[in-house]
Amino acid sequence: MQHIVVIGESPVAAMAALALAGSDLRLSATAGIHPHDAKEWSPESASWLARTLADPRVVAAGEMGLDYHYDHSPRDTQHAAFRAQLTLAADASKPVIIHAREADDDVAAVLRSDARTPVVLHSFSSGPALLRAGLDLGHYLSFSGMVTFRNWALDDAVRAVPLERLLIETDGPYLAPVPQRGKRNEPAFLRHTAERLAAVRGMDAAELIDATTRNAVTLFGPRLGR
Ligand SMILES: [Zn+2]
Repeated sequence: MQHIVVIGESPVAAMAALALAGSDLRLSATAGIHPHDAKEWSPESASWLARTLADPRVVAAGEMGLDYHYDHSPRDTQHAAFRAQLTLAADASKPVIIHAREADDDVAAVLRSDARTPVVLHSFSSGPALLRAGLDLGHYLSFSGMVTFRNWALDDAVRAVPLERLLIETDGPYLAPVPQRGKRNEPAFLRHTAERLAAVRGMDAAELIDATTRNAVTLFGPRLGR
């Protein structure tokens, strides 16, 4: 493990992530407003996000996106916050971390129309429409510990992603991979996710770990490559 990207999916979480990134060069932060909290989006959040994305310790915008499973914010509000954040990410030339749940077609449409920087479809568990859109647009797919679960049914998606577009993540504190399932998830457990993905793709785990590390540096920038 050479570097950890700490997700800041709210102003409070982003400030905590930034404090961590300021304390250790092996950590970087992201900043965004999760679709659950899209109802909090305002001109103030826009200026906060623009300011925060300019910080070199912030290597990506997000999480942002659409979540129709929980619908914690109205869908039109989710759309407005998502599109506004994509624009700010483009202005700052920062990649974007996308949260998509039960909103495949709408996320794909917004990515086609509004994404101007590379995107990570994070903790990928979506259907073929979003998989296809992500791959067609040259974006990245990131897999979590879910790939080790007994009910995981998306090995075809794992195999469909070109090696240079593949990433792995904890999506902590949940989704710890087997055999750590039920514990608080942490970066050390990523090895199990990597080993499972490598087995599905019929490749060496060390080779997959090298590739996903290289991809993260390409995507998030030289801060990750030290
Ligand atoms: Zn998410």
